[in-house]
Amino acid sequence: STIDSRLQHIYKLVLRRNPGESEFHQAVQEVLSSLGPVVDRQPHYLAERVIERLCEPERQIIFRVPWTDDHGQVQINRGFRVEYSSVLGPYKGGLRFHPSVLLGTVKFLGFEQIFKNALTGLPIGGGKGGADFDPKGRSDGEIMRFCQSLMTELYRHLGEYTDVPAGDVGVGTREIGYLFGQYKRITNRYEAGVLTGKGIAWGGAQARTEATGYGTVYFADEMAKHVGSSLQGLDVVVSGSGNVAIYAIQKVQQLGGRVVACSDSSGYVVDEDGIDLELLQDVKEVRRARIATYAEERGGKSRFVRDGSVWEVPCQVALPCATQNELDEDAARTLVEHGVQVVAEGANMPCTPGAVHVFTDRGVLFGPGKAANAGGVATSALEMQQNAARDSWSFEHTEERLGEIMRSIHGRCVDTAEDYGRPGDYVFGANAAGFIQVADAMLALGV
Ligand code: GLU
Repeated sequence: STIDSRLQHIYKLVLRRNPGESEFHQAVQEVLSSLGPVVDRQPHYLAERVIERLCEPERQIIFRVPWTDDHGQVQINRGFRVEYSSVLGPYKGGLRFHPSVLLGTVKFLGFEQIFKNALTGLPIGGGKGGADFDPKGRSDGEIMRFCQSLMTELYRHLGEYTDVPAGDVGVGTREIGYLFGQYKRITNRYEAGVLTGKGIAWGGAQARTEATGYGTVYFADEMAKHVGSSLQGLDVVVSGSGNVAIYAIQKVQQLGGRVVACSDSSGYVVDEDGIDLELLQDVKEVRRARIATYAEERGGKSRFVRDGSVWEVPCQVALPCATQNELDEDAARTLVEHGVQVVAEGANMPCTPGAVHVFTDRGVLFGPGKAANAGGVATSALEMQQNAARDSWSFEHTEERLGEIMRSIHGRCVDTAEDYGRPGDYVFGANAAGFIQVADAMLALGV
């Protein structure tokens, strides 16, 4: 292992305290394996037990979410909110609705969120939440009742200065609306800054919907530019077809790249003519249908491949924008054989440790999610700024701020990596820069 013995000891403690939570273990190991050179230079991080403190969430909330489906049947789900770190600001991070969500999933996401949020340079702590609820096939009324029930418990833990959720997988503007409505109803406060990802008409920020996907592409373009290239004219594969994927595709196209494939959980589509974004959005966002429908209606050179891996499609740029551990070592080898040059993570932890190793070993530029997908949460922080000032900014201004923030995150990764003699190592740069900021703030605030 790349973790030295002092950090290994902490990792073993995490394993013992959090049995069975493999995604959480993976996220912790990934960060710890970057911290050797940092604690060599700053041994007080170990002496003051900052890393051990950081591995333990400040607070973990688990609650029952009862609701009534369209047949009048009572259903029970489990809701979570992990309030991980509040040293840099109120807990901040999304809510995920997916049947696979467990406490360990939320802890892994919350842990990542701490460092990601630090990298934005904005005053936001780290947290994450969600439920093991499957929105697939549920009516609008069922979604509303589920969101209301979840908020009936969650509201007591939230507040614009305390904990500010947003969306994630399975939670978009519609869900945030039902959640916000219930918060407002219960508290009798129009506290816009308690949730982000709101609709434009009721306190939301321009460009928030687009921000994660746009930010990931800005980051990938910045990585390419750093070695004297750009995304212009390159073939790009984007996995997923949700909110992050859709706006990543849009920004790639605006920057002159060609997106040749995207996917959902049923399979992937290849389109040599370049993905028709309008059709994709209609299929996925308006009709909420499966991606096979895209190929059926698009015709031409497009085709749907059931079950296979989207990473079999040759490209120079790969943007995993679906979910954790979706791109493994074998897929990474295939991508390398096909000549991939840049990989940037739009999702959280989509590449397995083995895949990351293949990329970095073979000289592929690799941008980890906590840097590359930070545009979403950064724009959430901009939404909080606007809510606090009772202001609303134009799309152009907000997108410009997003671009500045992504360039600044890229710069922090590059500078930190160079400072420690590891030029081009974005994994190290992101982990070290994020960690140092959080650790110094923790020390300043006392035990
Ligand atoms: N769920 C997004 C993320 O993974 C956004 C969180 C937010 O805006 O608070 O960063």
